Amino acid sequence: MIQLPDINEARRRISDVIVNTPLVRSPGLSSGTGVEVFLKMEHRQKTGSFKLRGATNAISHLTEAEKIRGVVTASTGNHGRAVSYAATAAKVRATICVSSLVHENKIAEIRRLGADLRIIGNSYDQAEQEAERLAEHDRMVMIHASDNPRIIAGQGTIGLELLEALPNVATVLVALGSGGLSAGVGLAISSLRPSARILGVSMDRGAAMKASLEAGHPVEVEELPSLADALCGGIGLQNKLTFKACQSLLDDVILVSEAEIAAGIRYAYDHEHEVVEGAGAVGISALLAGKVTALKGPVAIIISGGNIDMPLHRRVMAGDPTIFQQVG
Ligand SMILES: *Cc1c(COP(=O)(O)O)cnc(C)c1O
Repeated sequence: MIQLPDINEARRRISDVIVNTPLVRSPGLSSGTGVEVFLKMEHRQKTGSFKLRGATNAISHLTEAEKIRGVVTASTGNHGRAVSYAATAAKVRATICVSSLVHENKIAEIRRLGADLRIIGNSYDQAEQEAERLAEHDRMVMIHASDNPRIIAGQGTIGLELLEALPNVATVLVALGSGGLSAGVGLAISSLRPSARILGVSMDRGAAMKASLEAGHPVEVEELPSLADALCGGIGLQNKLTFKACQSLLDDVILVSEAEIAAGIRYAYDHEHEVVEGAGAVGISALLAGKVTALKGPVAIIISGGNIDMPLHRRVMAGDPTIFQQVG
């Protein structure tokens, strides 16, 4: 597993590209919860999510020979977009495998950035198998979306920025998918502010890391469509880094329902004037639902992404009940 110096090094490597996103106090969530609540605006990162941090760090480490071979990855959308962006900037060929569940808005951006996009199967895990096959068969360099030390170190730079802006943070809410964000932010925060509680938040259906933590080892779960599409997919039965990191760094994992995720998206828009995607809203959802027990402030929520399909956003805002049938 990586250490704090790896995160510091990642920060030096990516600082020319990455936006140090603002940390903004939420008056509504602060008065609603009775503690100070701040939002780390990673949905305003270039490419619309924090994924550019890890992707830029990983690409910066490629050797000349690896650059010629090109990179390949599987993604629920945001990592693919970030890899496409970083690879194109470094003049490296990128192949991105996504499943048929990935929304058109995310696919269109990956294509626009010039990557070779492949739509494979009906789940993230199937897209990942194809990416691994291509890495083997075509000798491309696999850049896993989370279970990769350079990805984790890149995502961890959020933790450094957060601590500079809010040194006395007591609780950090992190959207939890396959655990690269939680591992990186968890490592940075626990190294520099060990008293802070770090809580992962996932959707309540198909939360692979939560199920794996409960089982004590990586397990597979059925992938179901969710408003928090960026949190879907497995952690890999051969998980090398993020499972152990989440086991040791996360104090708890909170699960939120689709209705609670929708409420988080609506809150962000109505009260913060921010367009956030489901995965970006889950920290707000957990607070609104009163699911964070023994809440201690100041609280920081990482608003991890904003790449929501806008027609879907309008339906969420309108309170359209059919979104719950259609997303599953
Ligand atoms: C990828 C992603 C996450 C989850 O990150 P993991 O490293 O998979 O845990 C959360 N929010 C958004 C917007 C993402 O794109």
